[in-house]
Formats: sequence, C-alpha cells, structure tokens
Amino acid sequence: MSSSSPQSMKVAVLGLGVMGGGMAANLLSKGFTVSVWNRSPGKAETLRAAGAQVSATPAEAVAGADLALAMLADDEASRSVWLGPHGALGALARGAIVVECGTLTPGWVGELAAAAAKRGLGFIDAPVSGTKPNAAAGTLRFLAGGDEAILARAEPVLLSMGSQVVRLGPVGSGATFKLINNFLCGVQVASLAEALVMVERSGLEVASAAQALVAGAPGSPLVKMLAERMLGGDYSLNFAPGLMAKDLGYAIEAFAGRGVPLASAEAARSRFLRTARRYPEADMASVIETVRDEDQEGS
Ligand code: NAP
Repeated sequence: MSSSSPQSMKVAVLGLGVMGGGMAANLLSKGFTVSVWNRSPGKAETLRAAGAQVSATPAEAVAGADLALAMLADDEASRSVWLGPHGALGALARGAIVVECGTLTPGWVGELAAAAAKRGLGFIDAPVSGTKPNAAAGTLRFLAGGDEAILARAEPVLLSMGSQVVRLGPVGSGATFKLINNFLCGVQVASLAEALVMVERSGLEVASAAQALVAGAPGSPLVKMLAERMLGGDYSLNFAPGLMAKDLGYAIEAFAGRGVPLASAEAARSRFLRTARRYPEADMASVIETVRDEDQEGS
C-alpha cells in the first residue's frame, strides 16, 4: 500500500454511470492509478483507452487498492457490489478506505460501515451535489460523514473529482444530509414544472414570465437551470427522474422514523415516478411533460 504522494494511491471506481464515469476520468487525468468495474462492461471502454485497468468483478477491481469508491444507483446495487458474490469489501486489504458516493439510505450506509469496520477498513460516506457536467469537470461537492483522520486521507482523491469536501459529522451524516438536500431539490423541480405550466395556461408571455421567476425570489440555481431546460425542451440526461423518485422515497422513509412527515415529497415523488414510466431515458426536466399531459391522462 502507498504512499508518498497522493497520486501514488491506487483507486478503484465501482459504477461507471452518468456520474461514476466522469469521476473515474478525472482521477485518471490527475495521475492516479485507477481500476474500474461496471455491471455493463461497455461503459468502461473509454476509460480503458484513457489508461484505466478494467476489471471483470468488483473484487478484482479493488485488489491492491488504497481507496475504493462506489457510485451506484441505489441501496440494492450498493449491497450487491460490496457484499454480493465477487463483492468488493472482502477483497480489500486492511487499512484501505471505502468511500460510498451514491445517494443511499442512512440505514444501509450504517450497515456497510459496520461491515467495513469489522474488516479493518476505513469508511466514509460521501454522496455528492452537482450533476453530470460537474462530474465531468471535476467540480462536485462531496457531502461527507466519517472520522476526520480517515477523511483527511481520502481528501486528495475526493478533491481530484470535486472542488469542495464538506464534513457533516460521523459516518452516516453525508447520507442523511444528501436526502435533505435532494428533498429540497426534488420538490423545487416538481413545483417549477407546475409553475411553468401555470404560466403557459394563463396567456402570459412565457419567456418574460420565466425570466421574472428565475430573477426573483424563487430563482435558486437549480430552478434557473431547470427552467431553461424545461422551456427549451432539453431533456438530455443529467439526472434520471427514477433516481429523483428513489431519493424522495428514501427521504420519506428516513424522516418518517424521526417524526418528520414529508407531504410535499410524497407529491413530488409521484410526479417523478410517472415521469420515469413515460420518459425512462430522459432527464428529470421532462417532468414538465407529465404536468402538461395530465389533463389528457385524466389523472
Ligand atoms: P446511472 O447513470 O443510472 O448509473 C447507475 C450505476 O449503478 C451504473 O453503473 C449501473 O450499472 C449501476 N447499477 C444499477 N443497478 C445495479 C445493480 N443491481 N448491480 C450493480 N450495478 C448496478 O446513475 P448516476 O446518475 O450515475 O447516479 C449514481 C448515483 O449518484 C445515484 O445514487 C444517484 O442518485 C446519485 N447522484 C446522481 C446525480 C446526477 O446528477 N446524475 C447527482 C448526484 C448524485 P449499469 O451501467 O450496468 O446499469
């Protein structure tokens, strides 16, 4: 194991989707030795050409790694990649660091952290804020939970894929905070779709009304970006509506246990579930189409 300079660390990346692919590419471009694995092997090919070692299983990818990070869809995917057949956790050497970057439940993250501790591994939960362009540009914000000393060792790796690491508390804090963050994102995007259809159905000048909304109090950075995409019909994939429905479901479940009923998340989640059924390959901006269609659907 390493290491005199951060770049001498060997890093494994498990999951090469919209986000993981960009993250692995940044690690390679910053000079790390990178091994990768993805369930659908085709997604690893551009990274192979950029110098990644492509592995056939999660266990093979993490062999000899100083740090292994996963960027997978949900709890089920994370469980199978870390603990399933040919899973990564059992193949890491004592002292290596596990970084779980997916948006997952605090319950599962706690279980995974305990399994890592039993094997003498460090553990950080570090879900991200930012989307596909930030993953590609290396400007993600990591929302981290875990021991400060372990996070300090992981930081050079995280900062090669992002511009900021925010420590929110002990293990599980990143996962919990990310659900709060995405709750607020999801309800804004669903409400924005409704507001823009209200504008369209009111005979207002759509461009002027949209400009006034984004320049005014409701104009968060997310609302600004999504208003442009919704009105421009740009549904190229940054963030799938099914993933937003998953995040809202996780937030509802996690906070029901803490006595915080999320009524607005329930409404937004049903919009994203309907969007995921109708436009499974599109970005969550396509949620506006399900609002436009609703009277025709009779729902
Ligand atoms: P994505 O493009 O859909 O990629 C999902 C990844 O999970 C792929 O590598 C996929 O493998 C893998 N996967 C799914 N089910 C699996 C299973 N059962 N076993 C093994 N691998 C499985 O998603 P993404 O946008 O990169 O998001 C990844 C994570 O980051 C999610 O937790 C998401 O909520 C979170 N996130 C996304 C964004 C965003 O803007 N996109 C922003 C912040 C956080 P295949 O390629 O084989 O399908």
